[in-house]
Amino acid sequence: VPDLELIQSRIRDVADFPAPGILFKDITPLLNDRHALAATVSALAAPFRDTGVDHVIGLEARGFIFGAPVALELGAGFVPARKAGKLPSRTIGQAYDLEYGTATVEIHADALHPGSRVLIVDDVLATGGTGRAAVELVRRAGGTVVGFSVLMELAALQGREKLPDVEPHCLLSV
Ligand code: 5GP
Repeated sequence: VPDLELIQSRIRDVADFPAPGILFKDITPLLNDRHALAATVSALAAPFRDTGVDHVIGLEARGFIFGAPVALELGAGFVPARKAGKLPSRTIGQAYDLEYGTATVEIHADALHPGSRVLIVDDVLATGGTGRAAVELVRRAGGTVVGFSVLMELAALQGREKLPDVEPHCLLSV
């Protein structure tokens, strides 16, 4: 609990970013604090220590920051899931709906092996659209989703309801 209080205290609310009316959760003060950063990585990894994770998928871009050290903690490899057109080799992609329009998340087609056990990591669970797309992508790539670990859930947006088969592990719920 002291760790969670420290972590929570290092997340800053920024009004009207990236658009008017949005209250953005800024995690850069947390990244800046070595104790809060270490506590966050360790807490994101903790429930998955003995679950045989082969790969951690980090969702662009803040999921990269947490995903790679979580992979190191779990003795797993790291796989970046990126927005369309950013990865250099052959990819598989999954489209999902945004408030206006759609977006696509991609991984390299050869990133997972059949039966690969995957933990998905991101900073914030909002509507759940990104997380849902990542889960579908892992399954289409032949992997098994072991879990979904995020720093913060924006509970009012009910993203958890899009992930009933995954039961997201969220350090904080706001
Ligand atoms: P969702 O697809 O669940 O609606 O949105 C989650 C994605 O948007 C995550 O990749 C997350 O990084 C980003 N996101 C949405 N809202 C916030 C926010 O308030 N703060 C941060 N740091 N990321 C956000």
